[in-house]
Amino acid sequence: LCMDHNEKVLVPFRYFVEPTLQLSRTPPCQPFHFLRLHMDLQLIVYECCDLSTLFQLMRTCSRTRGPAAKYFWANTLETYWYHSSDYCLFDYGSHQCPIIRHCPEFARRIKKVELNLLRLEHFFAELGEQLDGPYRPAVSTATKAQDFWSKVERAFPAVKKMVLTGMLPRRALPPPPGEFDIAYPMIETVLNCALPHIAAYVAFDRGNSPRSRSYTLWQVTSGLESTWQVVNKHWTPTRILLPPRRFTDSPLRDLLTFTRMNYALHLETRGLDWLKIETYARYPLDGVIRCPRLDCDATFTERSQWKQHLHDTSHWRLGPGYTREGDWAMELLCFKGTPISEQAAVEARQQRIDAGYKHTKKFQWRVGCGWSQEGTEQRRLFEE
Ligand SMILES: [Zn+2]
Ligand SMILES: [Zn+2]
Repeated sequence: LCMDHNEKVLVPFRYFVEPTLQLSRTPPCQPFHFLRLHMDLQLIVYECCDLSTLFQLMRTCSRTRGPAAKYFWANTLETYWYHSSDYCLFDYGSHQCPIIRHCPEFARRIKKVELNLLRLEHFFAELGEQLDGPYRPAVSTATKAQDFWSKVERAFPAVKKMVLTGMLPRRALPPPPGEFDIAYPMIETVLNCALPHIAAYVAFDRGNSPRSRSYTLWQVTSGLESTWQVVNKHWTPTRILLPPRRFTDSPLRDLLTFTRMNYALHLETRGLDWLKIETYARYPLDGVIRCPRLDCDATFTERSQWKQHLHDTSHWRLGPGYTREGDWAMELLCFKGTPISEQAAVEARQQRIDAGYKHTKKFQWRVGCGWSQEGTEQRRLFEE
């Protein structure tokens, strides 16, 4: 389980395609000659496979590769979306040349992307004339939007569906009649500028339920007046992070590997914290739910009250991640009623995360120490 600070579950590609361990102890069944089935029947089976199974089949044998790849790239299943939060790649007039960190070949073939732009209304806001420094005329939202979609086209040329996300709906949605707020027409303009072969949507955090985030997917149809339509009220896709780009052996590769792995470990740590907190509601003793903060005596009978308490008091902010250096860390432990097997699983995951951080330290150390010993070819490259 990997999630960001808003409890949005993001699955690193590596985990997404990792074969899952079969834990059931059913005796192995008779081998089945799948490839002897009629091709039409085989295709029906492929059609029923999820994306990670298809990915495995692409690498199983030469005869499954073709059909599995076809279904994998078509990605017709509603639930799977690739996720990118590399908004700087799509920023208007960005003078720094941002590094593409995902695998560009992979990105070129995907059909469905969710892009997190942090704050849509800021991202596409009009820019006034720039008088200080190099002169730049005013930039309208439409110009920014056209620039944005052309960058999308370059990064994801096969994309058919695109979800833009990144604003908390502090305002009511859809826009109440008669009420004017610049953010609505701005987003409408952006969606209307989408290239004709791309279905563009926006997803907003519903924001009303504390500590359980859900998103609503919207579509805006243009016309004399734009209309906002709910496509999916509780949009809960599986968001897959794009596979990383391969770099040649270099200090830059070490640095990017370090930041990417740290990010994945950070997401995993957030996920593990979430699981630990969840044990308090899932395994209550005598029907009494407790607060995960050890010095808090609050008790609850309903999960919703407990959630509200965590939301109001921030008592979920526990462990070293939420402690300033030098302060005493309030520990986050599994609830004592948690079954032993679950506690062991949490412990094993913690060890895996710790080992991961140790591993990333090696990259940091290598780059920090000049990549290799003095006098070597690597050191020469580093110093160049
Ligand atoms: Zn963080
Ligand atoms: Zn509390």
